[in-house]
This record gives sequence, structure tokens and C-alpha cells, in this order.
Amino acid sequence: MTTSLKELTSMRVGGEPAEIYVAKTRDDLVEHTLNVWRSGDDWLILGGGTNMVVADDVEGLRVIKVENLGIEPVRNKDESRVVVRVQAGEDWDAFVAHTVKTGLAGIEAMSGIPGTVGAAPVQNIGAYGQELSDSMLRLEFVDYETHEIAILEAKDLQFGYRDSAIKRGRPGVITWVEFELQKLDGLSRPLYSTQIAADLGVAMGAQVPLEDVRNSVLKLRARKGMVLDANDPDSVSCGSFFTNPIVSDKVARALPDDAPKYESEEDEGLTVKLSAAWLIENAGIEKGFQIAGSGAAISSKHTLAIVNKNGATAQEILQLAEYVQVRVSNKFGINLQPEPNLIGFAKH
Ligand SMILES: Cc1cc2nc3c(=O)[nH]c(=O)nc-3n(C[C@H](O)[C@H](O)[C@H](O)COP(=O)(O)OP(=O)(O)OC[C@H]3O[C@@H](n4cnc5c(N)ncnc54)[C@H](O)[C@@H]3O)c2cc1C
Repeated sequence: MTTSLKELTSMRVGGEPAEIYVAKTRDDLVEHTLNVWRSGDDWLILGGGTNMVVADDVEGLRVIKVENLGIEPVRNKDESRVVVRVQAGEDWDAFVAHTVKTGLAGIEAMSGIPGTVGAAPVQNIGAYGQELSDSMLRLEFVDYETHEIAILEAKDLQFGYRDSAIKRGRPGVITWVEFELQKLDGLSRPLYSTQIAADLGVAMGAQVPLEDVRNSVLKLRARKGMVLDANDPDSVSCGSFFTNPIVSDKVARALPDDAPKYESEEDEGLTVKLSAAWLIENAGIEKGFQIAGSGAAISSKHTLAIVNKNGATAQEILQLAEYVQVRVSNKFGINLQPEPNLIGFAKH
């Protein structure tokens, strides 16, 4: 029996596809995906469904749900560096919890990000000063264009801020991911988040017990509705709906002094990363905002998240997103880009 994608995504929108196939092993994932591709049918790789907005009508779509499990140390690079291979269907936060428990540093600040390990490289997930690309070594990829299985090194993925070659248009399926993590006597990597440092009462760059970083991050995230919680209506979302725009130094200087501006590492030239949340708030959109008659809302905890408040349709989610984009563009001339993957909508 087919389920609707509403039940399999954190935004809780999306119609009923033709098929949902659950792949429980790496070999099954590869074999079934190749069969679906050969059929020429429309297809979708689904992990935890926490970073997608799926259209209300997805007739004919064949969904492949990635559920292959396993965490396995592959080798020790030296005394302090360990390589771990993780199957794509593992839950990301369960993997982070495992590394913290076993004293491996490198991904502790990304505690609480929902979804699967296989989806994490797609948008180079990140939070609180850490990004997946800091510790990912390589992954196995079945390429849609060639139907061949390749091992892609981190450099092949051309990671950027919430971006990768896969997200930019190299379709395929990730079956496992390898990470290089560090044994630092139970301590974290040096902290690169002012928020965690302030919460723990330590200086930036300090190294603290892994468990302390994890607990701090989970607490900070929960305050913003940024962990999945059945009791928190603000977590019926895709997390941040827009990426922080990267603009030229000239555009950044034209903004008010109180607009947060961060040096960007994306380009060689002079670019600045802005806060999408600040732009939205200062375009006059407040937390909790709803268009009359729509089930979609801005989160009551964080302006950057769009939530499905009361039975929104996918169209209502996109209508609110477009409204936000127009308001920000009219006020500041900056185009906000959606972070989640929009599935099954005509390109517009
Ligand atoms: C409350 C909340 C907070 C969040 N906070 C953050 C955050 O702090 N930082 C951050 O970066 N993200 C955040 N996100 C977004 C989301 O958690 C990540 O993007 C996550 O990696 C998505 O994983 P998933 O398994 O749910 O992917 P899905 O939503 O299932 O898929 C996302 C995309 O990846 C593709 N995909 C999935 N699995 C595979 C695979 N094995 N191979 C190839 N392609 C695949 C899908 O086809 C789709 O295009 C948040 C989301 C929520 C709901």
C-alpha cells in the first residue's frame, strides 16, 4: 500500500506517489535504483524527508527510501585519526551521538540536525561553526547519467555553503559516506561558534568535552524549534527555509549598520554573507506571520523557518516563501534562495 509523502516528510506536505520502495541494504538500494532508472519513470531518492517540499500531486513518481544501516570503523590513519564508514540510511543525529559517546571529534556541533547520513553531503549540512565538508573523506555514488558506481572524494563534490555538485545538478544516489574523525582525549574540536562558547562560558577556540558541546547545541537548537519534536509545532518545517545570501562588499555596505555581515569564504573576491533572518525581519515580516486563510506560517521561534501550522498544502508553503522573497527583494533588492529541495513543481 502506498503512503502519501505528507507522512514521510517533516513539512508534512506532498501527494501520493506511484510507489514507495524501502531499500534496506546497500546492494538492494543500488539494484532497485538502477531498475527504476532503466524504466524511465520519474523517481525520487528519499532519506528522512526533512529538507524537501513535495508537490500535492506527484502522480507516477517512484520513491526509493534509503534505509541501509551500519557504522563501521574502516581504519586508523594514525594514533589520533579514525576513518568511519556509515551507510546512507543511518540517522544523522544517531551517528553524531555515537561519535560523541565513543570519543570521536569532528561533527559534535552538528548534533540535532535531522535526516540521514546519505543526504548530509547533498547540501553540505552545517551548524554552529562545523560543516560536513570539514570531516567527510569520500562516498560511494551511483551516477544517474552513466549508471556507474563511483567513489567520489570530497574535492569531487565541490562543496560550498549549503551546496555541492550533487545539489547543483549531478543526480544520483549516495550509498555510504566515509568520515575522518579525531581522538582528542574526549574533547571537541576548537569551538568556532560564539553561541556555544557563550553558552558554555568558555572562549572561542576552546576545546571542551564532546558531551558538553552536544548538550549545548541540542539546547540552543530546541529554543529555535530546530530539532524535530512531536510536541513542538514549530518543528513541522524544513529547518531554515532560505540560505544566508552571499553578496558583494558593495551591496553589503549599502545595508544599515546593524545588518549582520560575515566575511564569506566562498569566493576569492570580496564577498559578504548576510543574515537571511535579519533581512526577513527588517522587511517587516514577524515571527508567527500567516497569510490570511493559509495553513503556512513563519515559525513563532525563528523568522527563517516556514512551518506547516494548520494543514497547509504544498502550494500554501510556496506562496508564503514567495511572499517573503518579494518583501525582502522590494526592501533590500536581495533575492533569497530557498534551501529545501522543491520536488514535483513546475520550474518557476
Ligand atoms: C527542524 C530542522 C532543522 C534543520 N537544521 C539544519 C541545520 O542546522 N543545518 C543543515 O544543514 N540542515 C538543517 N536542516 C535540513 C535537513 O535536516 C538536512 O538537509 C538533512 O541533511 C536532510 O536529510 P534527509 O535525509 O531528511 O534528506 P531528504 O529531505 O530526504 O532529502 C534531501 C535531498 O537529498 C536527496 N537525498 C536524500 N538521500 C539521498 C541519498 N542517499 N543519495 C542522494 N541523494 C539523496 C533527496 O533526493 C533530496 O533532494 C534542518 C531540517 C529541519 C526539519
